[in-house]
This record gives sequence, C-alpha cells and structure tokens, in this order.
Amino acid sequence: MAQLSRDSEAFGGALMTLEQAGERVAALVRPVSGTQVLALAEVDGRVLLQDVVAGLDLPPFANSAVDGYAVRFADLAAAGETRLPIAGRVAAGSDAGGVTTQGVAVRVFTGAPMPPGADTVFMQEDVALDGTVAVLPSGLARGANARPAGEDIARGTVAATVGQRLRPQDLALLSALGLTEVTVRRRPHVAVFSTGDELAEPGTPLAPAAIYDANRALLRAMVVRAGAEVIDLGILRDERDSLARNLAQAAGDCDLILTSGGVSTGEEDHVKAAVEREGELAFWRIGIKPGRPVALGRVGATPFIGLPGNPVAVFVTFAFVARAMIARLSGTEPVRPMALPVRLGFPYRKKEGRREYVRVSLEPAADGIMLAHKYPQDGAGVLTSLTRTDGLVELAEDLTVIGEGTIVPFLAYGLLVG
Ligand code: AMP
Ligand code: MG
Repeated sequence: MAQLSRDSEAFGGALMTLEQAGERVAALVRPVSGTQVLALAEVDGRVLLQDVVAGLDLPPFANSAVDGYAVRFADLAAAGETRLPIAGRVAAGSDAGGVTTQGVAVRVFTGAPMPPGADTVFMQEDVALDGTVAVLPSGLARGANARPAGEDIARGTVAATVGQRLRPQDLALLSALGLTEVTVRRRPHVAVFSTGDELAEPGTPLAPAAIYDANRALLRAMVVRAGAEVIDLGILRDERDSLARNLAQAAGDCDLILTSGGVSTGEEDHVKAAVEREGELAFWRIGIKPGRPVALGRVGATPFIGLPGNPVAVFVTFAFVARAMIARLSGTEPVRPMALPVRLGFPYRKKEGRREYVRVSLEPAADGIMLAHKYPQDGAGVLTSLTRTDGLVELAEDLTVIGEGTIVPFLAYGLLVG
C-alpha cells in the first residue's frame, strides 16, 4: 500500500469512478500468501491455485441420453417408419460389450453405455411396440439422443484454471472428473469493527440515544460471502487513542481492516486521525450515491477500508469497493455484476457526474421487461429500503433527468453479495 500517499490528490480533486477505484485497488493489493490442499467438500467459494486438466473424457464412454431403443442409423429406412425386432437390454451401469445391434433395436436406459455399433436412440415415447418388434418413426437424425464420449469435456483439456473462484457447478465438474481434493489459496482474514458512541451490542440494554449496531451484522455476512474469514472486533468508541491501539493490534492479525462510521469530517469522526497515526489514509472521492465517503489506507502494512456509517451506504460501498479488495486479496478477479435491463416506473432527477444506485422492487410486466418501483424512503439509514426491495437500478454519471419508462440497468442483490 506504499503508493497511497500519492492518492491524496484524490482529496479535493475530481470524483473517481468505481472503475478507477477498482484499478487502484488492483494496483495496491497483492493476494495473501498461503496455500491449502483441501477436500472438494471444503472448497466452495475458494480460489483455485492450480489448473485442473481433465484426466478422462467426460462422459467417459458413449451413452444414451434417454430411456428408449438404440439402433444403427444405417438400419433405418430412408423414408417412412422402420420395424426392428427388439433384442438385448442395457441398463445404466451395466456392460454393453456383448450386445449385438445389427438389424435390431436394443432396449436402453438413460446413462447406459451405447451398445457397440449403435449410434442413435429413439425415445421410448416415440416408439410403438408390436409384440417384440419396435416401430420406429422417421425423421430422427443420426446420433440423436446419444452422448459421445468426451462431448462434455475431452481428456487433456483444462477444466478449471488457477485464480478461479469455485462455484457449485465447478465442484460438480471436478467431482465428475474424479478429483477428491484441490490446491486453493488461504482465505483472507478480515477484521471488522463498528465505531460510534451511540452504538450498542444487540442483547444488551438500549440506553437513551443509543441504537443497536446494524453494520457489523451486515459486514460479517458480506465478508463471508465474499470468500473471506471474519475477525469480529466489536464496537469501538469514538476515541482516538483506543481506536489507534485497536487498529494497530488488529493489523498484526489480519489481511484487511474494515470499519464503518467515523470517517466523515465531523469532529467526532476519529477513525481518520487514528489511521493516520498508525499508517496512512487517503480519502477516495468515489462518485457514487449512496456511498461517500470511503477512506482507504493502511495500518502498518495492512490495508484499511473505512466505510461510511449509514447502513445503506455500507451495503453499496462494500458491494462495489470492499468486495473488489477481498477478491484481489483472495487472488481472483472481482466479478463485475451483470446488469439486466428493467423499465423505470418513476421519473428521476440526479446530479451530473456521479453514479446513483436507487433501491427498487420489480414487478413483472406484459412486455416481458420488469417494471422497477422506487422504495418510498431513500434515506441512507433506512434498512427496510434494502430488506423490502429486490436490487439497485444503476443511473450513469451523465444522466440528470430520467423519464418514467426509460430502460435502465438493474443489479439484483444476489449479484452484489455473492
Ligand atoms: P458516522 O459516519 O459515524 O457519522 O455515522 C453516520 C450515521 O450512521 C449515524 O446516524 C450513525 O448512528 C449511523 N451508524 C454508524 N455506525 C452504525 C452501525 N454500526 N449500525 C447502525 N448505524 C450506524
Ligand atoms: Mg459515528
């Protein structure tokens, strides 16, 4: 993080886009060191540290994709139906080696190996039985309903690559290839704490003028979903010395320090001074709403992110900034969530030069494009605006007046916390 001091130009300067912030994160952060060899059952969400090359064809042998009758395509009449005597039966898991296929239809089931010479399978629903003769309709293409060996992935090709974050479907592929364990990177350890004299721990009595801490619950869950381990450091008071002490101590035990609150410019916002005492800090004026300010820096050599205090701003800045940092620490590329088009169900005005995220609920519409309704309250502290909506509409920097009915990009919450 040594380059951070150069970032202080961002202080009063132009607003940074999320993309620029992402580039800076990429330049500043190195992946954590440490590898683990873990069983497949343990590696969902982990980042691969090896390429996995298929050691076998998938499927390993040609097999039937349906329950039905396997034939040689060459035995079928050029036009009209074909009548073939039924001979032989191959179930999934049984050996088809000795089954003859010349001039006959072989009863087969889904996943059964194709009898030698057979190349095409009729679905049982399409076949009429006349005693022990199968009556086969015309019109099936050669190779229909048969799965050739290696059609999914061929032996020797790359099935998964270094730096890839494993998803359930990746685990299915690795398991189908017979793997039992893989080498992954250690998960980053992220220390999380809240700051504020008004904050109380749930489970303790609520004094007048106090509120229960919401952000730590949010951040703990988002950190885990981002693929890191949480070190929960609780609530810290708005007091510079104890903040600085706790920051310094946390820095020795973790790969990233994540805080919320206390980074505005109010005189009770002591996080800034505490970080500056133990390391360095640069405010990143990221041009998004809700979300400013985000403070980035280091405590000792450990990266630090100070998120805003209001929970909706915490959600948005975590999703777009902290998550990218955790991805980089994990040794993987941050995933840019894929926005889908929706129709704005309300007119909207915004300032030019910053990107706004508006909390919306979606309603299906007759034309197939979802209609987005704005949540009535848009305060950055309104938690129900997140719990009672489906996601965020993204309104680009250059927009100022957006008419009702405009097609705009929508990001479902599931994409922002995955
Ligand atoms: P701050 O940036 O510290 O001035 O906080 C801005 C607003 O967010 C204030 O209304 C705080 O009470 C609120 N806030 C800060 N931290 C939390 C938290 N952990 N849980 C809920 N609200 C918070
Ligand atoms: Mg505060």
